Amino acid sequence: MKILIAEDDAMSRRLLQKTLERAGYEVQAVENGRLAQEELCRSDGPRLALLDWEMPEVDGLGVCRAVRDRKEKAYVYMIFLTSKESSEDKVAGLRSGADDYLTKPFNAEELKARLRTGLRILHLEDRLVEAREEMRFKATHDSLTGLWNRGVIMELLNRELVRSQRENNSTAVLLCDIDHFKSVNDTFGHPVGDEVLREVAKRLMASVRSYDYVGRYGGEEFLIVLNNCDPTCAFGRADQMREAIATREVITKGGPLQVTMSAGLLRSADWPSRTADSCLLEVDTALYAAKAAGRNCVRVAMPPQTKKIISEEPAEKVHERQ
Ligand code: GH3
Ligand code: MG
Ligand code: MG
Ligand code: MG
Repeated sequence: MKILIAEDDAMSRRLLQKTLERAGYEVQAVENGRLAQEELCRSDGPRLALLDWEMPEVDGLGVCRAVRDRKEKAYVYMIFLTSKESSEDKVAGLRSGADDYLTKPFNAEELKARLRTGLRILHLEDRLVEAREEMRFKATHDSLTGLWNRGVIMELLNRELVRSQRENNSTAVLLCDIDHFKSVNDTFGHPVGDEVLREVAKRLMASVRSYDYVGRYGGEEFLIVLNNCDPTCAFGRADQMREAIATREVITKGGPLQVTMSAGLLRSADWPSRTADSCLLEVDTALYAAKAAGRNCVRVAMPPQTKKIISEEPAEKVHERQ
């Protein structure tokens, strides 16, 4: 563990450094409060600190306050090591945000014991942060595929629809459904079905840009949000994703399987202002049309009045909502 020593007196600094290095710490020593503050406020700075009170530029109290003012950063355990020894000083030191208070001259064994307490607190904090991150991940992701879960992908879609309207560009919404997936489960069993879902998720993730979103909407249905996607490119990109599933067999414990998916596509620019829920209704109808057209294809959701214009584009398969 790295420890920062802030001490303006060169002799004391060297003595402290030696003591701590002998105890196995990696030591970073600075001679004033400003440098201490800079180091401790860096996101990868030391998380354990021994601070003198009286130092040039910024005193120990100032360092403590500045470090505690940073929000949402890793906890820094700070101990005062000072010759100021009145109860009032100790109260003021601890009130400024320090975790512990020792007076000079220090006893090496006591100092090491207090540092061990600091390490215990830091380990505890690390475990809490890990647990919080794990809970956050579980609350936002689908456990089988690692994709965004339904609640999050719908929220992201809503946000993107609002943004694209404000910035006057288009979001592409794609609802994909694996074809005849029930027969995979029925023939090879549920675990093989799970393998297929994971591989489809992986291929979908691989075929979008880092700022697009892929979520698991339901059992074998995936909702994809292509942000700021030129309407003239949306169909091609959706069809590439369909192809990414269809062209290569999925290798499973039940052997290689030919898997295809159908998709409904909606380009937000084709529609007047839309909510995520109403987009879902339209794109689901387009998906249904893709299934009805024989599966392994993409259909575009268009408002009724634009049908004539769009259907003049021969390459694009259009579905008008009835
Ligand atoms: P279609 O081409 O019309 O979409 O037919 P389908 O068989 O894919 O559709 P259907 O809705 O009849 O079946 C979906 C199946 O997906 C049924 C359900 O058991 C299965 N499923 C849903 N979630 C999971 C899962 O997490 N793991 C596995 N293995 N199967 C799942
Ligand atoms: Mg001093
Ligand atoms: Mg389905
Ligand atoms: Mg299906």
